[in-house]
Amino acid sequence: MSELQFVDLHVHTNFSDGTFTPDEVIKIAKEEGLSALGITDHDSVSSLTIITAIGEKAGIEIVPGVELSAEKNGQEIHILGYYFSWEEDWFKEKLAKLSQAREERAKEIVRRLKSLGIELNFELVKEISGEGVIGRMHIARALVKAGYVKDVPSAFRLYIGDNKPAYVKKFPLTPEEAIEMIRRVNGISSLAHPGLLKNSDLIIDIIKSGIDGLEVFYPEHTNTITKDFLELAHKNKLLVTGGSDCHGLGKGEKLLGTIKLPYKYLLDLKKHRILDSKV
Ligand code: AMP
Ligand code: ZN
Ligand code: FE
Ligand code: FE
Repeated sequence: MSELQFVDLHVHTNFSDGTFTPDEVIKIAKEEGLSALGITDHDSVSSLTIITAIGEKAGIEIVPGVELSAEKNGQEIHILGYYFSWEEDWFKEKLAKLSQAREERAKEIVRRLKSLGIELNFELVKEISGEGVIGRMHIARALVKAGYVKDVPSAFRLYIGDNKPAYVKKFPLTPEEAIEMIRRVNGISSLAHPGLLKNSDLIIDIIKSGIDGLEVFYPEHTNTITKDFLELAHKNKLLVTGGSDCHGLGKGEKLLGTIKLPYKYLLDLKKHRILDSKV
């Protein structure tokens, strides 16, 4: 049975910078024939209760997840976490601090835009982010809405992409701290989209820091890259994860349904969780 089931372990909702609500995510996952979804909002677990309930009704299994932002040597690194005890108070408080830092950073980006002659109203950004944890994607959409750029990729390319004129770095977490944060709540960590890292030596460093898995399957990974990462994961006895990084229509196309991982990879994650909890 499970051979016919497919999963996507990297999906955002409008509780961070995706445009789809939990209802929409579940509806599309169903249409795409997915059996399970890892919900990995940026620095937030706020969607997990609601989407788990909606998923249950629709027959879609929800894997509780999160995507933490970290930084090393000027390179942004994303660490995915799965199956952690997300209701622990210290963990929630830590996430609340990270969102607060995101809010301050978003204001700073808007100030930098102003110094470049772009008068973007912060209220417009807040209107777009709604209750969601704020991020650059919301600023990009606000720039489109205000008519400063034609689309989201242009906003990143011209202004807010890494090291562009209005770019502001994020947060205090190092990859080691992010991995430790997931470990402390008994979760499984995985290095998100390793193929997007400019300095691939960092991947080896992060493996050495004790990450549990590698996001081998990702829309922007070519077949060759995927094969190389699969080998790297096997060689280092890492769990293999993968997902679409769906941001709703935030990235132009919905992406949900473009990565369909055989369910056996999720079974491996579950086994790891059981083994871990026995220690
Ligand atoms: P933030 O977490 O606020 O730094 O925003 C990171 C998010 O912005 C990523 O998850 C992507 O969704 C999006 N993003 C980053 N770089 C680009 C880009 N060059 N084009 C489009 N979206 C991007
Ligand atoms: Zn995002
Ligand atoms: Fe990411
Ligand atoms: Fe993501």
